[in-house]
Amino acid sequence: MSPLGKLLVIGFGPGDMEHITKRALDALAESEVIIGYNTYVDLIRPLLNGQEIVRTGMTEEVSRAQEAVRQAEMGKKVAVISSGDAGVYGMAGLVYEVLMQKGWRREDGVEVEIVPGISAIQSCASLLGAPVMHDACTISLSDHLTPWETIVKRVEAAAAADFVIALYNPRSGRRTRQIVETQSILLRHRDPHTPVGLVKSAYRERQQVIVTTLEDMLNHDIGMLTTVIIGNSSTMVYDGLIVTPRGYQRKYTLDASEQALKPHQRLRTEAEPWSLSAQGDRPLAAAPQAGAAPSMPAPSASGAAATVATQACLQAGAAVPTAPSAAQAGSSPASLAAEALGRLAAGGRLPGEANVRWSGQAPAVGAHGATAVAGAGAAAGTATGSFGKPALFEVGVSPGVGNKKFTARQMALLAEIAGDDGELEYTPDHQIVLRVPCADPEELVGRLRDERLIVMPIGDVFKVKACDFCNMEKDDAVPVAEHLQVVLGGLQAPKETSIALNGCGMACYGAVLEDIGIVYRKGGYDLFLGGKKFGRNAHAAQPVAEGIPGEQITDIVENIIAEYKEKGHPNERFHKFFKRVGVVAGYRHEDAPAGVEVNAVCGD
Ligand code: SAH
Repeated sequence: MSPLGKLLVIGFGPGDMEHITKRALDALAESEVIIGYNTYVDLIRPLLNGQEIVRTGMTEEVSRAQEAVRQAEMGKKVAVISSGDAGVYGMAGLVYEVLMQKGWRREDGVEVEIVPGISAIQSCASLLGAPVMHDACTISLSDHLTPWETIVKRVEAAAAADFVIALYNPRSGRRTRQIVETQSILLRHRDPHTPVGLVKSAYRERQQVIVTTLEDMLNHDIGMLTTVIIGNSSTMVYDGLIVTPRGYQRKYTLDASEQALKPHQRLRTEAEPWSLSAQGDRPLAAAPQAGAAPSMPAPSASGAAATVATQACLQAGAAVPTAPSAAQAGSSPASLAAEALGRLAAGGRLPGEANVRWSGQAPAVGAHGATAVAGAGAAAGTATGSFGKPALFEVGVSPGVGNKKFTARQMALLAEIAGDDGELEYTPDHQIVLRVPCADPEELVGRLRDERLIVMPIGDVFKVKACDFCNMEKDDAVPVAEHLQVVLGGLQAPKETSIALNGCGMACYGAVLEDIGIVYRKGGYDLFLGGKKFGRNAHAAQPVAEGIPGEQITDIVENIIAEYKEKGHPNERFHKFFKRVGVVAGYRHEDAPAGVEVNAVCGD
């Protein structure tokens, strides 16, 4: 055995016996001497079995480290203990500093093992919910060893870069000014309603957990045993818990869906191009952009946390003391937009349930990635104009249900609105999808409608499509298409659903392949249900009725939709629903003939 001893620098976690690692326990057990600050020695006392104890006061860290090195050099196994992790404002660096000063070398000096522990940022976060999640940093407000100007710079930088911030050593009996100044710096960059968690003595006897806001945080007890966790612009409060979504919401759309980005969408790589499993050539999440609104449970375009918390609150029926007020007061564009769009809907200009509001979309696969990232410059703070750029707004536009002709003025307007930062995507859905950073969706939608464009949400909604009725020469069925568009278009659906109408038996716009197909022939409408247009087992819809009179067809389709909305599972495509329930609005499902087994070349 080496004549030299060993230094075990041990982080023992927050302070209870359950959150200490196995290695830390073993390392303590194998030590002969324990060196630590009084309080810490007391915390781990139950784990000791006769080791020699060297206790010191709080400020005697250097002498503690020196003593540890000295005893190790004498051949002892010495444990130096830190709460949390020894490498986070703990003893690890100091022990190495003392060693370096002595010219210590790894190959012939005392052996050193750093035993990692759960740091306060983690233990405190766990008690608050999931406030960290994304890019975060720790800042110690103690200017004992760091000049205050440096700390100020770090707070500034972290605030501006929208990091979640864990403040260690926020306040002591004498150091009271720092937290006040820190708050005022943060308020220059973040919404006053940004969720803030104050955790005192995590996993210790006098544990205290407070969920508050940036503007209100100083009205609570903050001391040396407190860690302060400041949310980023996406952070929200849900049922008393602080949650930071894993990524930034990149898009908003006019949408009538309940939850913006559903869990299954969020879990897809393409919804999170910044995730590790995403393609390497995409920009990783490197730069979380200030302010993009969150995705759960519903996003907002600005004052992100505020509106989101409001919606979380509405959905959960929970009293959220923090963020909602701004949104409720109507001070965020998102809430204004929601309200305004709701009004439009109620006024009949938007179809459906009058619940049209901002809603998030997963970024589309592929080409949009870059735009999404670039445009995600984010929303928070359009309310105050200082928290970032607006979020991407996404809508589908078309010149009409049957009318396929854009006027030059409409095209010019779209081009003008898209500008350099937006994009116009030509899609197979008889519409152009417009994506553009937008702080005032209400105004934007108004301009589009003023130019007589149909403006539709993107996502899991009912879409009404129709042929061009042979350039409107065979326009008998146009009123039915328009009626369906007004009544059903844009309504929330379990899954994106196409209702397609063709004006003659040629059905050249493919209505019989859609979820719900309607084909007009002189004398009546033929109805087709449950088409599947894509995939290896694509199949035409099942013809369920022929010659339905004009005065009945819309009611029938509305009944079908009502049944699907009521009984369809979330995410269940219409054809699957039809097959599962067997009968919809009186129409019985029949199995399509078995598909041909095909070797799929590009995916399934
Ligand atoms: N090495 C420790 C940090 C020591 S600095 C770690 O990794 O956690 C001391 C600061 O840590 C305190 O002022 C407080 O901000 C934070 N802290 C440590 N333990 C804590 C606990 N149990 N609960 C809350 N905050 C704690």
